[in-house]
Amino acid sequence: MEESFRDSLATVDDDGNRKWVYPKKPSGKFHNYRAIVSIILLTLLFSGPFIKINGNPLLLLNVIERKFVIFGSIFYPQDFYIFMFVMVVGIVAIGIFTLVFGRLFCGWICPQTIFMEMVFRKIEYWIEGDWNKQKALNKADWGPSKIFKKVSKHVLFFVVSFIISNTFLAYIIGIEELTEIITTPPSEHVWGFFSILLFAFAFYIVFSRLREQICTSVCPYGRLQGVLLDEHSIVVAYDYKRGENRSKFKKNEDRAAESKGDCVDCHQCVNVCPTGIDIRNGTQLECVHCTACMDVCDGIMDKLSLPGGLIRHTSEYHIKNGSKLSLNKRTIAFSILLLVLTVIIFGLLLFRNKVEATVLRTPGTLLQTQADGRWSNLYNYNIVNKTNEDFVLEFVLEEPKGVVQLIGDSTIQLTKGNKTSGSLFVILDETYPNRRQIPVVIGIFNKGERVDEVQTNFLGE
Ligand code: SF4
Ligand code: SF4
Repeated sequence: MEESFRDSLATVDDDGNRKWVYPKKPSGKFHNYRAIVSIILLTLLFSGPFIKINGNPLLLLNVIERKFVIFGSIFYPQDFYIFMFVMVVGIVAIGIFTLVFGRLFCGWICPQTIFMEMVFRKIEYWIEGDWNKQKALNKADWGPSKIFKKVSKHVLFFVVSFIISNTFLAYIIGIEELTEIITTPPSEHVWGFFSILLFAFAFYIVFSRLREQICTSVCPYGRLQGVLLDEHSIVVAYDYKRGENRSKFKKNEDRAAESKGDCVDCHQCVNVCPTGIDIRNGTQLECVHCTACMDVCDGIMDKLSLPGGLIRHTSEYHIKNGSKLSLNKRTIAFSILLLVLTVIIFGLLLFRNKVEATVLRTPGTLLQTQADGRWSNLYNYNIVNKTNEDFVLEFVLEEPKGVVQLIGDSTIQLTKGNKTSGSLFVILDETYPNRRQIPVVIGIFNKGERVDEVQTNFLGE
């Protein structure tokens, strides 16, 4: 096979300048499925900031105030270990998913592809027409029609970018704060207003100029394809065994007798590709698995009364062996592992302790005696309420025998999503604690329900 395509990028010419990609308007079965998936995901994305669970947003990633809400549950810096675990599991899951299903995520779920292909590209087709009309318009001299089309396209691009910017900001600062920024004069929220415009401008540049370069040159996931895929990975692939020897279609020819393959070299799969590659050269890191080439090639095969699937979801192994894609042991095992990892992630997110408490002996203090002669240690506590309920908390000494005595009130009133701190005594029933370190277990109860426990040490003599 001709390998020279590996020496250059499809979107860069010999002088190193960018080659603008004009992909042909896609249509077909897979495009329709993708449109449905995109509509569902976009609806979720844009409605997300307005959805509340027990008064909390569905998702809030407020890195500025270090407040995170996932599925209505509040997460604090104390939950960082969950975040780390989710990150590690997530990276492993992405690796396994890619190894089995290739770059399915890029073509069907990634916001970059969905916005580019299903929103911005649609606007472009609507205003400027299909690829050949876009090419002609760009070559044409400036005149009223070209100015009107270009200005209206870019104004619409910026409006959509502005809406996306507001939506993403709503996931960071919350819909209430965003509404306040939008509804009050910009002078009262200079930084908020500036952030919205900055985000909007960044999105506008990404979708009007950078486009496929994000997937082919910027996104680290795309760059990792070489190590994440193997010959069993399911990818969008051209069946070279069936397609070669490719040659142009001639009426009434007997292709089989002339040892010609089913590929009629119509170039439609290249014309429709949003990253400008020729999938017939084999799997390439630029391929985002958008399936546009599958649709267009199926259309050509249909016209020639040949079976579809010359370009299809399959693996290099199956093409090489002429076998049909089927669920093998590896796919099943990795899919089960993926499912288990997903369940672990959701389990961690959903079944955390309701409160997070730390109790540490007050620095510089030693063994003390109370007025009644019992022995005590002084501690400092910090408690975070991670729920949407108001708590009335009590500390109960569970090991060894004794009591916990709060300094101040006998209970702690802790409203939803808040934290508090204070001091307490652990008072032992023992006559004399003659050991240096005595393990202590303190149960934390909310109206009789045990919501957390803390283990610490009591300093004896
Ligand atoms: S669309 Fe199909 S038939 Fe046409 S060049 Fe591509 S692979 Fe060959
Ligand atoms: S090769 Fe096909 S699936 Fe890959 S990006 Fe191009 S059109 Fe999409």
